[in-house]
Amino acid sequence: MWICSVECCQNASVRVTGDCFICGRHLCYKHVAPTFHTCPDLDDEKDYYPAYMQADQKEIEMISKKINYAALESHARDLRLGISCHAITLPLDRKTQYEVIGGMNVHIKVQFEDGVTWLARIRRTNATSPPPVVRDYIFRSEIATLRFLEKLNIPSPRIHGYALEGDVGNEVGVGYMFIEELPGTPLCWGDLTHGQTRKIVAQMADMAIEVSKHPMDSIGALHLPSPGTIGPIAREELCDLVNGNLRTLGPFTSMQDYWATYLQSILAQILDRQLYTLHPIDAYLIHRFLLDLVPQVWTAEKEPCYLKHADDKGSHILIDASANITGIIDWEWALFAPASFALNSPKALFHIQDFFAGETALSSSESYFVECLEGEGRADLAKVVREGKQSLFFDFCCAFDGRTDWEGWMGVFKGLRKCVGVDDGLNWDEWKQITLKRYENDDGVKQLLARGALTD
Ligand SMILES: [Zn+2]
Ligand SMILES: [Zn+2]
Repeated sequence: MWICSVECCQNASVRVTGDCFICGRHLCYKHVAPTFHTCPDLDDEKDYYPAYMQADQKEIEMISKKINYAALESHARDLRLGISCHAITLPLDRKTQYEVIGGMNVHIKVQFEDGVTWLARIRRTNATSPPPVVRDYIFRSEIATLRFLEKLNIPSPRIHGYALEGDVGNEVGVGYMFIEELPGTPLCWGDLTHGQTRKIVAQMADMAIEVSKHPMDSIGALHLPSPGTIGPIAREELCDLVNGNLRTLGPFTSMQDYWATYLQSILAQILDRQLYTLHPIDAYLIHRFLLDLVPQVWTAEKEPCYLKHADDKGSHILIDASANITGIIDWEWALFAPASFALNSPKALFHIQDFFAGETALSSSESYFVECLEGEGRADLAKVVREGKQSLFFDFCCAFDGRTDWEGWMGVFKGLRKCVGVDDGLNWDEWKQITLKRYENDDGVKQLLARGALTD
């Protein structure tokens, strides 16, 4: 995606682990090594967090300096035909930042004199952000998704206007979209009673049913200017920049088509030293194995496709004090996919420890979710969730961040092998030995072994 930031180095930088939030550089497999790159990493908590906070503060100050608040207010006022408004500048002190600064976006509140509040949603810009052309591609897809959601009976932010950073006439200095501010606070299960939890799960089931009433015809994402048709997937992992030109994947006609293409792209990036540079052979073997499992886990048939939130772990749900869902937010990276993927159990319902230990039984929240779907006469959707662990484990095994959580990767990989009944019960060393033999004639395996990967 990026080229290495080190002068005269033309290597592709390593995705994710080569993007250093602290020094702001993109580093290739050579220059990300500790002999060249000396920023503290996650294993070094004492030095990492202060350095991280400092870089974070610097980035927010930079964004705030770039924003022309008067131009932002002027655009908002024009959109509301002259109702005057005031944009609240980004707070620079840490105590108040958490409300408006997320991991991906910052929000500037725009308050109108008639009491209406909008948010100007602005992408953060740091070494972990994609290049501008990819960022804008994903931004525009999010806008198209929000427009699609207006047709659905799901509380999502209405979009009132937008401008990309490079748009002619955009004097604000950054790209932004104006969205409605929704009431409520992010869902946190730990704060809720049993009754409130069940009330929310029941509403989530209603929303899954609502989504199921709005199918599209292929796997991919929505885009501007024609939000009625499905185009390529709008996610960094499935995008690339080649000589400045955006390369995307999709749309796809079947899940077999989607997974085979995605896995082949991951395998190619491992060989190209853009992914898993610390344990390339382990990662290659897992993804190579997943590629062989595709026909067993996913269908080759064309199926109706439904909207899937890309990060449905719970904080995307806003609730009020009476446990009513007041909003579903953060729609970047959303895609359309068949029910087996899009209408499977949301992450918010997982028993996290059990899931990442490879437990194949439903969590208590998932069981209640299934009960609600059945109660609404949707045995078809209940079946998707009840039989959904195999596809969830498959999905999580793919592109897992094994560096930060190797145990978790091994857990979901164990769960997958149990579900599909292939190599079930083998420990990692046994599996790796058998699999190296199984793929000894695979060109990629031969290439990696010949390269003598350092840490495998
Ligand atoms: Zn660094
Ligand atoms: Zn380099």
